[in-house]
Amino acid sequence: MIIMSSEATKEQIENVINEIKRLRLKADLSRGDFRSVIGVVGDERKIDFSHFEALPGVKETLRIETPYKLISREFSRLSEDPAKHGVIEVRDVKIGGGEPVFIAGPCAVENKGQLLKIAEGAKKAGAQILRGGIFKPRSSAYSFQGLGSGSQEEAQEALSWLREAGDKYEMPVITEARGESQIDLIAEYVDIIQIGARNMYDQDLLGKVGRTGKPVVFKRHFGAGIEEFLSFAEYIAVEGNRNIILCERGIIPIGKGKSFTRYTLDLASVPAIEKETYLPIIVDPSHATGRRDLIFSMSCAAVAAGASGLMIETHHNPAEALVDGPQSVTPDELKDIIDACRRIYKEIHRKPAGK
Ligand code: PEP
Ligand code: MN
Repeated sequence: MIIMSSEATKEQIENVINEIKRLRLKADLSRGDFRSVIGVVGDERKIDFSHFEALPGVKETLRIETPYKLISREFSRLSEDPAKHGVIEVRDVKIGGGEPVFIAGPCAVENKGQLLKIAEGAKKAGAQILRGGIFKPRSSAYSFQGLGSGSQEEAQEALSWLREAGDKYEMPVITEARGESQIDLIAEYVDIIQIGARNMYDQDLLGKVGRTGKPVVFKRHFGAGIEEFLSFAEYIAVEGNRNIILCERGIIPIGKGKSFTRYTLDLASVPAIEKETYLPIIVDPSHATGRRDLIFSMSCAAVAAGASGLMIETHHNPAEALVDGPQSVTPDELKDIIDACRRIYKEIHRKPAGK
C-alpha cells in the first residue's frame, strides 16, 4: 500500500501510478478528499517499497501481510472513510452495514409462469432480491442442467424472464455463471452475478467476473478454509471490482453428518470473516442444510451471528420443484423467516433506553 501525503498533488498521484505500471504492476487507487491510498497489485517479489517511498508526494508505504489485501480490514482502515467500504448498492438495495437483505427465488428457473409466481410470493414475503438458476451446476450429467444448457436462444429467453420478473416486482436479480463463456451474456440481463461453491477456485472465471465491474455473490467452496476463501475473493478485487458479497453455504460434514444435513453450516465463519474483511457476508441456509425444516432456525442463527443477508431457495410448490425441492421453502414460510430475522436484527441492535 502506498499512502500519499495529504498535500500530494494530482500529478504526483498520477506519477506514482505510472511508475507502478512501468514496473508491469497494477495500481488500485482509493481517492479521498484529504488522502489517497494506492494498492500495488502484482508479484510481491518485484515490489521494491523503498523505491516508491522516494517518489514525491508519498508519505509512507505499508506491506499488508495477508494474501487478501485489497479486501482486508487493514486496507479499509487506511482509507479516510472506512464506513463507506462494505456497503454494496444494487439498484435501491444496500447490502452490508445495516439491516439484513433477503435474496429469494427458485433454485432453478423452470418456466416463465413458475418464476413470476415465485417472484410475486417472494416480494410479498419481504425479500428484496430475486434469485433463479439458469446454468445449474449438477453432480450428475443426467440431471436437469438448467434452461441455459439448451441453445443460446433458450438461455437468453430464460434470462429475459428473470429480468422481466425483477422489473415487474422491483427486485434486482441474480443468477449463477458456471463458466467464463456465460459471463458476457449473463451480465447483460442481471444485476448480480453468482459464483457457485464449485467454482470458487476458478481464477480465470473470477478475473472475468471482476472485469465486468458488476456486483458478485461469491460462495465459499465446501472444502475451503477461511483464508483460502478470502484469498480467492481477492482475484475479483484485483480487477478493480470490490462489489463482492461473500456467501457462507456450508462445508463438508464429517462422519455420518451427511445423512442428517447436506453440509455443515459454519456460522462461526460469519463473525470470523467480518474481523478480516470489510466485505459483507451473507448465509445460504438452503444448500447448507438441504432441509426445509431447518431453514427457519438456521436463518435466525445466521442473522444473530451478524450475517448481512440470507439467500433462501423458495418455490410455490416445493414438491414439484425440478431442483432442490426438499430444501425449498414456500413464500408463506419465507415470510415467517424474514419477519423473525428482522425482529432478531432489531433486538440485537436495539439502543439502550435513553441513548
Ligand atoms: C446455488 O445457489 O444455486 C448453488 C448451486 O449453490 P452452491 O454453489 O453453494 O452449491
Ligand atoms: Mn439449489
